[in-house]
Amino acid sequence: MGVWILAVAALVGAQAPVDPQDFLEKYGYLHQDHHIHNAVEVQLAVRDFQWLSRLPVTGQLDEDTLLQMAEPRCGVSDEGSQQLWAQRVHVIFTGKNRPQHRSKRSFTQVEKWYKRHLTYQIVNWPQHLSQGSVRLAVRAAFQLWSNVSGLVFQEAPGGPADIRLAFYEGEHNDGSSNAFDGPGGTLAHAFLPRRGEAHFDKAERWTLNGHKGHNLFIVTAHEIGHTLGLEHSPVRHALMSPYYRKLGRSLVLSWDDILAVQQLYGKPPGQRLVRLPGQVLHAVLQEWELIELQSRPEALGKPVYCQNVFDAITIDQNQSVLVFRGSVYWTVSAAGSVSSPMPLRQRWPELPSAIEAAAFSPLDLKWYFFKGKRIWRFTDRSLDPGFPKRSSDLGLPRHPDCAFYYAPLGHMVVFKGSRYSVLDLKTLRQVPYYPRQLTDWIGVPQGTNGALTHVDGRLYLFREQQFWRFDPVKVRVTREGQWAKDLSWTGCIPQSNRIL
Ligand SMILES: [Zn+2]
Ligand SMILES: [Zn+2]
Repeated sequence: MGVWILAVAALVGAQAPVDPQDFLEKYGYLHQDHHIHNAVEVQLAVRDFQWLSRLPVTGQLDEDTLLQMAEPRCGVSDEGSQQLWAQRVHVIFTGKNRPQHRSKRSFTQVEKWYKRHLTYQIVNWPQHLSQGSVRLAVRAAFQLWSNVSGLVFQEAPGGPADIRLAFYEGEHNDGSSNAFDGPGGTLAHAFLPRRGEAHFDKAERWTLNGHKGHNLFIVTAHEIGHTLGLEHSPVRHALMSPYYRKLGRSLVLSWDDILAVQQLYGKPPGQRLVRLPGQVLHAVLQEWELIELQSRPEALGKPVYCQNVFDAITIDQNQSVLVFRGSVYWTVSAAGSVSSPMPLRQRWPELPSAIEAAAFSPLDLKWYFFKGKRIWRFTDRSLDPGFPKRSSDLGLPRHPDCAFYYAPLGHMVVFKGSRYSVLDLKTLRQVPYYPRQLTDWIGVPQGTNGALTHVDGRLYLFREQQFWRFDPVKVRVTREGQWAKDLSWTGCIPQSNRIL
């Protein structure tokens, strides 16, 4: 058994290393007794995993399979999901339940609540999000399910409650296999009825409106599904898919999620289904944030982005730094004064909220913004004719990590995962021989959320709370640290504390 583990460990490389055997045991594909598995068992387990993850079912631990194992996901085991799904589909075609057979868990005793009115309680709170916005997001997450089923939910702030939501770090008294693993990997887990517990990894960068970080609303809605008795779904875009997905434009609940909850609790009274697309919820959450940010003076003179992850950062021709998050942005002037949060659409009305990358180019004095499949270009506040354009028409990837103008190349550089692209701003075409591997940028990690060239001529790259300073002459990273503590021009060090 040792051989295949060694052979694949190298492939995962710089990504969060995942031991495939541990993974397959933890998520219910291999039995945990003695940790001894023959080749056939492992192959079957890999096939089951590939099926639920919508990968080609080969039984081989190939690179795609290993990368999928490293994706952020729910901590609940996938065991039994496949049979339950087959059962759900069978009901669609025949209208009746299939007689049960075999398997460790008996499906005749489905785990569910025997009442329709359930209460919930938020036991404690995540860092860096206000209680008001968390409460709103949790309420909306429960409402997704009550909109399509016979269930009704009510918050019981003081408890006792049927369903309790709590944030924990590391081990938290429900077994070492349920211990949280810090940022990335397992985001949250929950128990089937009628234990009524959903736990969230406190160490994640939770967000409700930004594009970077993990969206607490979507993860809560998924975990609520488990507390109601739902298991993981193999359906693409299902909320109950084990993998984290962003809040997008599509409907939050898929047909499979609705079918699963209705098989347990029936249809809503009056049979009227309400299904909200993600963009509606997104808009509501952002409006809420804006009202809240503007009504609350920034605590201790520090803007709120300082404690969290931002979506994008850039610097303009006056050396003002712009920091983008959700529907707002801040400016930090060259002299170091920080603006209050300003609505993105007030300055650039055509932009969507929660952009993924932004770059001001000193070459043509234009602003470039990236989100999803599209690129916007502005001259000052006016959208240039022909924009937004499709990224693919320019030869660029969708959903970039970050973008910046890079003087040594005289072009725009766009990072995405393990590769980077180079865009010629005059022709709006990708420069020949790109994309190339990110390893060209020695010392720069994958998954950065923003980058800019500061007045000292060096490139600064950001990921969550960390920064990397890349020296274009030495062509490698020469310094790393915590941007909010170490870089005064981020606007996060109160002016009185600054050493000049
Ligand atoms: Zn789950
Ligand atoms: Zn737990």
